Amino acid sequence: MEKPKIYITRTLPDEVIEPYRNHLDIEMWAKEEEPVDRQVLLEKAENADGLVTMLSDDVNQTLFEHAENLKIVANMAVGYDNVEVDAASDNQVKITNTPDVLTDTTADLTFSLLMATARRLLEANDYIKTGAWEHWSPLLLAGSDIHHKTIGIVGMGRIGEAVAKRALGFDMNVIYHNRSRKPEAEEKVGAVFVEFEDLLEKADYVVCLTPLTEETRHMFNYEAFRKMKSTAIFINSSRGATVDETALKKALENNEITAAGLDVFEEEPISSNHPLLQLPQVTCLPHIGSASVETRYKMMRLCLDNLVEFFKDKPVITPVN
Ligand code: NAP
Repeated sequence: MEKPKIYITRTLPDEVIEPYRNHLDIEMWAKEEEPVDRQVLLEKAENADGLVTMLSDDVNQTLFEHAENLKIVANMAVGYDNVEVDAASDNQVKITNTPDVLTDTTADLTFSLLMATARRLLEANDYIKTGAWEHWSPLLLAGSDIHHKTIGIVGMGRIGEAVAKRALGFDMNVIYHNRSRKPEAEEKVGAVFVEFEDLLEKADYVVCLTPLTEETRHMFNYEAFRKMKSTAIFINSSRGATVDETALKKALENNEITAAGLDVFEEEPISSNHPLLQLPQVTCLPHIGSASVETRYKMMRLCLDNLVEFFKDKPVITPVN
């Protein structure tokens, strides 16, 4: 039987891909670092039975219209805000994502970002590298304590709960907000459910870990920042568009909040003259939440395993629709 034709929108390492060539006829976009050219993707999709896509690819109705044979798209991310899921279902295209395998890695990064922002690590690093360190002084680069503070997690899902576990190690008090209560998290990490506004008012660290949906788009607007403590630190490692970046900049400039740590942005990649980069109290990372080699390999393999299962007529491992 002919192997299903798969197009992958980035170059993935041979050691990951090779074992799957027994089951799948795999072609890849030849550049590891650059996203696939849109026209090329549309052309490749015409003959593909399956695609492996990245969070930077728009998997939308236009793509489905170009892809008569397409049966499945394995998106290499847990978030799938880049995918028009209803359009996929209308076109009988299965969508899969990569939950669980990235949970701890993303939680590690989120907590690191919180710590780096609170203790001003990147400012301190620049301070030395630019030759500014001439004296010690009592409040030199003094930041905020982390231990015994209150962390407010908006989006207490898989990653949120893993962040809460890390927070317990620092004797933090954990509060959270979801649309529905999560009794397992309350039991396992002692997290206390609060309404969104309560969380904004009470938390020393507000951490966003919701998916990007129409409901969460610009959930963190000026009004939300204004409700936070003036000492609060805001951390976002969900998706950039949960935050109104203009409002965040204004809130920081007006001292409505103290600092922010951002792994994600409304339009990625951001340029070096992005307005938020002008503020020293903002720590920025280029969307590296799940970026450990081990985890990225697991995400790649999960995408390919989903394709293999699907073409064996078995249930996929991590379905979205
Ligand atoms: P998850 O287990 O589905 O958790 C998401 C949580 O958000 C759920 O508990 C959900 O609870 C809550 N939520 C959804 N809509 C909400 C709303 N309107 N208001 C408040 N809470 C809401 O997902 P996960 O695996 O933890 O991943 C979370 C997100 O992290 C992903 O969607 C992705 O965007 C992001 N992420 C980023 C990176 C990175 O590199 N920075 C890496 C991995 C994931 P309810 O349904 O009860 O509201």
